Amino acid sequence: MAKVDIAFDTYYDYEAMTGHLQALAAAYPELAKLSSIGKSHRGRDVWLMEITNPKTGPGTEKPGFYIDAQIHAEEHATSATALYGIWYMLTNYGTDEEVTRLLDAQVFYVIPRINPDGAELSLQEPYHPWCGNGRYLPGEDRIEGLIPQDVNGDGYIVNMRVPDPTGEWKKSERDPRLMVQREPGEEGGEYFRVYPEGLIRNFDGVHVKIEQQQDGNMNRNFPINWSPREYGSGDYPFSEPEAMAMGRLVLDHPNICGMCAYHTHGGIILRPSMLKYDAEMSPRDLALYKDIGGVGTRLTGYPVISTYEDFTPDKTKGRHGSLKDWVYEELGIICFSTELWDMERTAGVDKKGYMNLGPRDADTQQKVFDWVLDNVGDKGFRDWEAFDHPQLGPVEVGGMVYIWSYRNPPGKLLEEICHNNTLFNLRHAAAAPQVKIDKFEVEALGADLFKVSAVVANHGYLPTNLSDVAVENKVAKPVTISLDLENAKLIINPQTQDLGNLAGRNERKFTYSNWGPQWSPTAKPVEWLVKATGPGAKVTAVAVSQKGGTHRVSHELA
Ligand SMILES: [Zn+2]
Repeated sequence: MAKVDIAFDTYYDYEAMTGHLQALAAAYPELAKLSSIGKSHRGRDVWLMEITNPKTGPGTEKPGFYIDAQIHAEEHATSATALYGIWYMLTNYGTDEEVTRLLDAQVFYVIPRINPDGAELSLQEPYHPWCGNGRYLPGEDRIEGLIPQDVNGDGYIVNMRVPDPTGEWKKSERDPRLMVQREPGEEGGEYFRVYPEGLIRNFDGVHVKIEQQQDGNMNRNFPINWSPREYGSGDYPFSEPEAMAMGRLVLDHPNICGMCAYHTHGGIILRPSMLKYDAEMSPRDLALYKDIGGVGTRLTGYPVISTYEDFTPDKTKGRHGSLKDWVYEELGIICFSTELWDMERTAGVDKKGYMNLGPRDADTQQKVFDWVLDNVGDKGFRDWEAFDHPQLGPVEVGGMVYIWSYRNPPGKLLEEICHNNTLFNLRHAAAAPQVKIDKFEVEALGADLFKVSAVVANHGYLPTNLSDVAVENKVAKPVTISLDLENAKLIINPQTQDLGNLAGRNERKFTYSNWGPQWSPTAKPVEWLVKATGPGAKVTAVAVSQKGGTHRVSHELA
């Protein structure tokens, strides 16, 4: 029986989420530390849960794994998954072998809600479909045109269908509640324009203008390939306090080896590159992304795809300023962004593409619609209701509630998503480099002289540099070993020796071949000659790897 019970079939507002985090930190003080990494635009704390067993060493001396969620306000399943991950690790320490091993040897940094202001807005009626990050309240950032709002007071912002002979939509013949596209050249029917539900500022009586929101997309606010022309990128990189807090956490914890940034939706694991074809990536980095991602596919059912090749429909418009691109292309950290939840696949629709703004054909819509009615009910679809719009005249208001259908699963499907994705986080974390002093020997040579020898080895899947990109960018720090001496002095070899990078087992994907990638050492020997200068002479070797942890071993000279 877990010490803290949390239901994972529902979504929590800021106060409830904070309460759960505080309860977990209070119940597991020996493993968890809750802190605020900064304040949101509207003064809410952005919480960080740091999880490790400090009895086996401080977090800074262990490989780190970073998880974040809900950078986008309406992606509530992400926050639930991150909270589940925290709960799962804390409640399974000491009983589950994998969790226990990881919390002893590694450290986790989990930010379960990066964007608490936006999340709070989006979690309450009328469920704004896009909320930014709290810099503006909905509508504040638009000068004129259609301002989405709940005009008929049913608690939801959905769509308006407006009769219009020039319109591009018509009612489906199979079900008049569904709207399908009018064919090119098709005439003679009853047609509609479809707009987001809302009122229009400064309406000219003709064109319904819809301004793009100013309140942005924080995942375009990171310092890589940043552009002011990208929608939602902010005033400058890290201009948003929540993004700045994330960036500082990453930079202040150079032990971070792996990262998972959660999003919804799509049921896919996105990997680099954001801006290049796979053929332009380091083949070794690409291979390890595919191999680690493949573990994710096995555990979650989600395919691993390239953000650029499979998730960027217009190849001339690569993404600017995104977190995954920053941490991999600049810092060399292995990062995935997982898009949780695929309603269409769940509803039995054949997947044709990963980035799909529609229009969806009548068959697809029918399957999705039937599934939503059965599984979400009227929280997922609002039946069309006549409404006398003050500017557009008689319209109908209704349609799919995007946030509670495509964007987030119903509560009954949430826990399985949380669980499977947490298991992938743990396996990705466990792929980290692990630097150990495997052998530490002292040989007495006479005359108080001793030969001290050690082998420093990387036990991990990943190399101590993590990626080729880290080496190219010169951010990979070499593994070092130092010899601390008590009542002894060094005769031969420097006290600190630079061992360069130690390879991981990812390099050896097949038996040796002249034509394959050549192997580099996963372990290296070192030696010193020391002289004991008094009683109780002792040497301590300290191997330090920025990504692979710190390991100490002592030996008496006798
Ligand atoms: Zn997102």
